Amino acid sequence: MKRYEDLSPSLRCIMTPGPVEVDPRVLRAMSFPVLGQFDPEFTDIMNETMEMLRELFKTDNKWAFPVDGTSRSGIEAVMVSLIAPGDRVLIPVFGRFGHLLHEIAERCGAEVYTIEKEWGSVFAPEEVISALRSFKPDVVAIVHGETSTGRMQPLAEIGRACREQDALLIVDAVATIGGVPVETDEWMLDAVIGGTQKCLSIPSGMAPVTYNERAEAKLLKRKQVERGLRTGDFEAGELPPVRSNYFDLSMLQDYWSPQRLNHHTEMTSMLYALREGLRLVLEEGLTARHERHALHGQALVTGLTAMGLTLYGDPDCKLTVVACVLIPDGIDGESVRTMLLEHFGIEIASSFGPLKGKIWRIGTMGFSCRKNNVLRVLGALEATLLRHGCDLSPGLGVQAALDVYEPKGR
Ligand SMILES: *Cc1c(COP(=O)(O)O)cnc(C)c1O
Repeated sequence: MKRYEDLSPSLRCIMTPGPVEVDPRVLRAMSFPVLGQFDPEFTDIMNETMEMLRELFKTDNKWAFPVDGTSRSGIEAVMVSLIAPGDRVLIPVFGRFGHLLHEIAERCGAEVYTIEKEWGSVFAPEEVISALRSFKPDVVAIVHGETSTGRMQPLAEIGRACREQDALLIVDAVATIGGVPVETDEWMLDAVIGGTQKCLSIPSGMAPVTYNERAEAKLLKRKQVERGLRTGDFEAGELPPVRSNYFDLSMLQDYWSPQRLNHHTEMTSMLYALREGLRLVLEEGLTARHERHALHGQALVTGLTAMGLTLYGDPDCKLTVVACVLIPDGIDGESVRTMLLEHFGIEIASSFGPLKGKIWRIGTMGFSCRKNNVLRVLGALEATLLRHGCDLSPGLGVQAALDVYEPKGR
């Protein structure tokens, strides 16, 4: 009979754009006893999590709760619930995850109009606004931090324009939430999706979402209650229901409301993890946390450039939490990644689609975003590149990063 060994995952230094290292406090929270889903102790945890999510998203929205599943499940829940078949949907695409929004919108039966920007840059707000004026969409869906290219799309002007044109604006802030400012109310974002395994440093498996009254009004037109749960006073919305049961926000919000109308069984241990992760974020403070991400992101790119490597993409719209590096000519990018993992226990990411084999992506997210990790990845990458015959002057990368941390002459 085959014997299965004890589970013993290695301790890694994870410098990818997710999943990243998890704070031991979050791991500990996941090991606590399971509670029943209607136990008042558990529903208190649900409510506290909603409160903390509102702070994270910088919103006064009534609705802020996690969808169970990876970040993509949050995106799909928001889109399938807010896009009715036949709706006109505008998607500005500047990387892999913009294409994902396009694909999901098509599956929702929308009439989709996309505008595309070459990978490595983002849209000037006027470009999106002019498409908004000519196409007159019901819904606009856009990525905030595009991890495939390491770029960040400014959203404030687009938010205001969508409000003026009465289009609902859906934002994928999976990679930015908790690492970079996301101003849901101030930027007039109607629905925002966050991720857990990126800057929040919680394992993957939940997708926090928030949406405002404008979004809820549209949702309530498609209001549904499952047949087996209906009581005498059920009134369906005027429009056909959302095509997915699991992702129907009109039913999910009833579960997260004091009504506690049952939908799925909430993921107990993941909710403990989310609550502890959010507590860590709020203890650190959003501003301090954003500054920490900016500092280590800066130290990393300074070190990479000093080493003689070239960064990919337009520097004006660089996403602080992901550095994209061109793989030097003649170097096998996968062999470098393998050596980093096997000899140094460090993981960096490869890339997708048109960038496959061309760039590495190095993340500085959440608990992984620390000085010792940045210095380790720079030192190890330099050693690995030298082993691969790359022509660089040894020692410069780590020294340049140290200078960012401890400016000379201070
Ligand atoms: C990681 C990521 C996703 C997908 O997240 P999953 O948790 O893998 O479903 C979506 N959008 C962006 C911008 C991401 O970086």
